Amino acid sequence: MTPIIGIDLGTSNSLCAVFESGQPTLIPNAHGSFLTPSVVSISADNHVLVGSAAKETRITQPDRCAWVFKRLMGTDRKVEIGGHVFNATELSSLVLQSLKQDAEAYLGQEVHDAIITVPAYFNDHQRNATKQAGELAGLNVRRIINEPTAAALTYGFHDRGAEKKLIVIDLGGGTFDVTAMEVFEGTLEIISTAGESMLGGEDFNDRLLSWALAAQKMQVELAEIKQPLLVSRLRQECEAAKCALSSQPDAAIRIPNQQGEIDQNSPVLTITGDQFKELVDPLLKRLARPIARAVRDSRIPPEEFTDVILVGGAKRMNVVHSFVRSFFGVEPKCSFNPDEVVALGAAVQAALIEDDQAVEDMVMTDICPFTLGTEISKEFGSRRSDGYYLPIIHRNTTIPVSREEIVCTLHPNQRHVMINVYQGEARKVEDNLFLGKLEVNGIPPGPSGKPVHLRFTYDLNGILEVEAYLPETGKKFSLVLTQYAKLSSANDLKAAVQKLQSLKFYPRDDARNLHLVRYAERVIGEISPFQRNELEAVIDNFEQSMGSGEREWFESAREGLLTMLSALGFDYSEDQKHS
Ligand code: ADP
Ligand code: MG
Repeated sequence: MTPIIGIDLGTSNSLCAVFESGQPTLIPNAHGSFLTPSVVSISADNHVLVGSAAKETRITQPDRCAWVFKRLMGTDRKVEIGGHVFNATELSSLVLQSLKQDAEAYLGQEVHDAIITVPAYFNDHQRNATKQAGELAGLNVRRIINEPTAAALTYGFHDRGAEKKLIVIDLGGGTFDVTAMEVFEGTLEIISTAGESMLGGEDFNDRLLSWALAAQKMQVELAEIKQPLLVSRLRQECEAAKCALSSQPDAAIRIPNQQGEIDQNSPVLTITGDQFKELVDPLLKRLARPIARAVRDSRIPPEEFTDVILVGGAKRMNVVHSFVRSFFGVEPKCSFNPDEVVALGAAVQAALIEDDQAVEDMVMTDICPFTLGTEISKEFGSRRSDGYYLPIIHRNTTIPVSREEIVCTLHPNQRHVMINVYQGEARKVEDNLFLGKLEVNGIPPGPSGKPVHLRFTYDLNGILEVEAYLPETGKKFSLVLTQYAKLSSANDLKAAVQKLQSLKFYPRDDARNLHLVRYAERVIGEISPFQRNELEAVIDNFEQSMGSGEREWFESAREGLLTMLSALGFDYSEDQKHS
């Protein structure tokens, strides 16, 4: 039996883990790192690059790179990179393929099955798109689980005897989730979840970017079109400044020139921690709402939470840490590496599915994060008004769950009914998310008020199935809400698979060398023009040696490049540790 791998498919970084010898274990990528940046690039010779090498390319050739595409999951949006057009599902599948290869190299065998984590607040479209990305990557997606649930599984696994009330707050690159849960003798019960799928570390970068551009009398949208190289390098400067502010009182942002280059004479902006706090205050305010809602829904008074656990890379920001501390009045903690806890939990979930002995005393129950329901009309005296929402599965119900409601025909001799399915909390359907529709036809003629039984079933993957049943005829109708995700039909899926298969990938062994080349190319933009020629020659030499098959030449060329970089003040191996 091949093992099931657990994948944390993040906005910024993705990780992969497996359960082996009774423990969840992280799988290193070709660079020996556990974190693979969720960045895809297409090189000039039409090869796909995923991960840290692609991330370096993002600065020098932004038009050949795609990143933060997790934010586009489940939408129609297309991204063009290097002359190829992709949707977010396809881009995610390239990241998944790369993780699959890493797992196969690590395990020494083929991998077929995976568990993929998603933000708890991902809606039905986004979950389906994630599942399809897995399928496109050649993975059999055994389960989609919520990221905070996975984080909690890691806690539950390592601290089984505990009796705790936990709140997990996950601020990643692009999404924000809050989940309350109780742990009791190996039983882990998720109680409530709230979040925002459009709030994360990237938004903090964006605010810094707008601020830095405004100081140069520029506006983001315009600059992105007119000076893409300036913006891509400046974005990196802003992210570095944001991270630096996690450990120092102020940080410098160098302003690149139009070509995206920085040198000693580049203007420098300094931002203090207090200025940053003020700048991101609107974002901090947005964190408050989901936290308050998850706490309220859990019916646990805030002071009764024994552990407030902050995970995700963005938790390292002082402003976020102190915001959460002041909300709960206790010091938030994370006894595991906040970047790794979700992937490790996905591997624990794999062990639960595989009935591994090491988890036989563990039980976990999850919930549905949203209310799911249908559209109805209401009668006000003799007037009828459409567009009202009838909740069928309420948010925070334990899953899997199946609920039935009866709706009735409105008119005499009405032969069919359209069941519109929505997700959300609003009273009127127009303010909720439309998931799909199911046409019920063949209703026998007769008076109004004929019953149609509706059954909503929400499975452990967080995917909804709607069934309708006409008791009078015994006829059944059903709808699995996949057709509203992208690549719906079998044909679309086949075409996407063919398109992805036609792409060329660099051999996995080349990944480390390519990363060094991209890194050195990025450095070109940060040194004086006099040093540039010399560095370019050394990069050219290394690139040539890579394909030569001559070991000695290759090794001396690599050494030469590393030495040159270090002489220029860029310590490649140190930087890799922090990237
Ligand atoms: P995701 O799970 O969405 O991929 P991560 O949990 O890996 O995201 O978090 C990535 C985010 O964390 C990025 O926005 C990154 O800038 C931010 N981040 C990483 N390290 C730090 C730091 N030291 N200080 C502030 N933010 C950080
Ligand atoms: Mg994450």
